[in-house]
Amino acid sequence: MTNPTRNEKGIIECYDIGGTNTRAAFIFNGQLKEPFVNERTDKRSVVSLVQQIQRISSSLRKKHPVLSESQIQAASLAFPGPVEGTILLGSKPLGFDEEIDFQNLLGDYFNIPLILGNDLNMASQGELALGKFRDTKNFCLLTLSTGIGVGVIINGSLYNRQTEVGHIVLEKNSDLANPCLGHRGCWAAQASGAGIEKTVEKMGLKLSSSEIFEDPRFQDVVNKVKKYNAYGIGNLINAYDPEKIIIMGSLGLKQFNKIIPEPDMIKKYTLLKNIPEIIPTSLGENIGLFGAYFSALNFLKTG
Ligand SMILES: [Zn+2]
Repeated sequence: MTNPTRNEKGIIECYDIGGTNTRAAFIFNGQLKEPFVNERTDKRSVVSLVQQIQRISSSLRKKHPVLSESQIQAASLAFPGPVEGTILLGSKPLGFDEEIDFQNLLGDYFNIPLILGNDLNMASQGELALGKFRDTKNFCLLTLSTGIGVGVIINGSLYNRQTEVGHIVLEKNSDLANPCLGHRGCWAAQASGAGIEKTVEKMGLKLSSSEIFEDPRFQDVVNKVKKYNAYGIGNLINAYDPEKIIIMGSLGLKQFNKIIPEPDMIKKYTLLKNIPEIIPTSLGENIGLFGAYFSALNFLKTG
C-alpha cells in the first residue's frame, strides 16, 4: 500500500503566532494535515519564542514521519503586528517593541524559503481563497482576540498595507482609557481580550477574559465592549464601505453574540445607512494557518 503523503510536493509548514496561542500545521492542497499543534505562545522573550518555533517544527516533523524534508517547500509565519519582508516591526500582542528579523533567527534552521506576514493580511488571503463568501469582492476581516486587527480586501485583492485600525482612539475619559503603545483608550486597548482584562484589573480583580464573560458582575463591562465595537466597526464602514465584515479571533468567535453590536448601534457612528452583514468566518480558528498557506503559495508564484 502506498502512503498518500509519500509523493506530495509543495507542502507548506504554516504557523499562526498569536498573543495567546500558537498554531502550526503542514498544509498541502488546501488541506490541513492532522495532527497539528496548538499551544500557548512563549512570549517571555524573542529567544524563547524562536526556540518554541524550532521545537514545534521538530515535533511536527516527528508526527509526520513519512514526510521527507524535501517535500516541505516553505515555512510561512503569521504574526500579530506589521511586517516588512522577514522583519516584524514590533508586536503589541506579543509584547515586543523592537524590530525582529526572523530570517536571521530562523533562516538557517528552516533552510527553505521563510515567509513572514501580518496575520490579518494573511488571513484575508485565506478567507478569499477558501471562505464561504468567495463571491464577496469587498470585505473587512476583523479579528477580536488578544488584540484587534483588520484585513481589507478591495475588488477581490488584498489591500497589502500596514493598516492598524485597532489603534484609533475612542475612549477619551481618562479614568476608563487603558494604556497602549504611546497612547491611551484605543479600540484595542478597550475591547480586545487584553483590554477587557485591563479594565477589570483596574477594578482590583485579575481574571481572564473568558472568566469575565462568564461572570454576571461584569455585564456592564461587556456591554461597554459592544459599544466600543459599534464605534470601531462604524469607522471601518466609514473607511472602506465593505459588503461584509467577517469576524475572526478567539474572542470574536466565542463571544460573538455578546460583543457584536446590532446595526442600530453601529448606525450612530457612520453616515452610511446600509450596515453590512457581520458574520463569523467559516474557517474557524484555523483561518490564520490557511492564510499563511495561501500567502506562501502567492509568494512562491510571484516571488
Ligand atoms: Zn493602541
